[in-house]
Amino acid sequence: MKKAQRILLKISGEALKKNDHPLATELLDLLVEHTRYCQRESIQLAIVIGGGNFWRGAQNAMIDRSTSDSVGMLATVMNGLVITRYLESHGIEASVWGAFEIVSLVPAFSKVDVLKDLAQGKVTVLVGGTGSPYFTTDSCAVLRALELECDLVLKATKVKGIYDQDPTKHPEARLLKRLSFKEAEHQKLGVMDQTAFTLASEHRMPMAVFSFYQPDIWPSILNQTDGDYSLVS
Ligand code: UDP
Repeated sequence: MKKAQRILLKISGEALKKNDHPLATELLDLLVEHTRYCQRESIQLAIVIGGGNFWRGAQNAMIDRSTSDSVGMLATVMNGLVITRYLESHGIEASVWGAFEIVSLVPAFSKVDVLKDLAQGKVTVLVGGTGSPYFTTDSCAVLRALELECDLVLKATKVKGIYDQDPTKHPEARLLKRLSFKEAEHQKLGVMDQTAFTLASEHRMPMAVFSFYQPDIWPSILNQTDGDYSLVS
């Protein structure tokens, strides 16, 4: 496979949470390390950030689902603003783009403008998910990767990769090294939502899942994604 030149990195909100702090400084420092690797390797990096460290629509049933999902999307905006400014404060040029505009704070996503920023070496942080309820930022990550013609989607999570069952609940869970989208769909693996799987599978977008806490794993992950549109971990 040709060397990945443009990558969509999906970071789940939970990965940035430590104890009671929704955005822990030491975890933001890890994000700086991830982005520095890409800069060294001249990889263009777009980040889709989740919001689960603050709010997930489906888990907050005290209000109607679509309003709750809107709150979730706003949570991704909070995360995105923080990580953009944090990267900038570490000398990394970054810009933030929203599925919806927030006047004077977040411009609306534009493929052309985001590609321009990426070409200039800026990390682009994409917030607000898809802008529609009933989706997740996993689906958003695949959608934006397709729009931006990325070579690969990487999902950085709290766990090491793709497991046959939730490793946080089942200590005997097995890490699956490589599998096709068909297998993933069939086994109903919870690592990513089904809409994201389906979209990636249909459009042959390769994906890999890895631990956010291991920024040194990039070379190994990039070596394994050989373009056969499998999920790897
Ligand atoms: N969300 C949404 N539409 C989207 C993306 C996200 O409604 O296109 C809402 C949804 O409520 C979701 C929340 O935002 O639960 C936070 O996103 P997600 O759960 O994907 O975050 P993560 O689990 O990756 O931190």
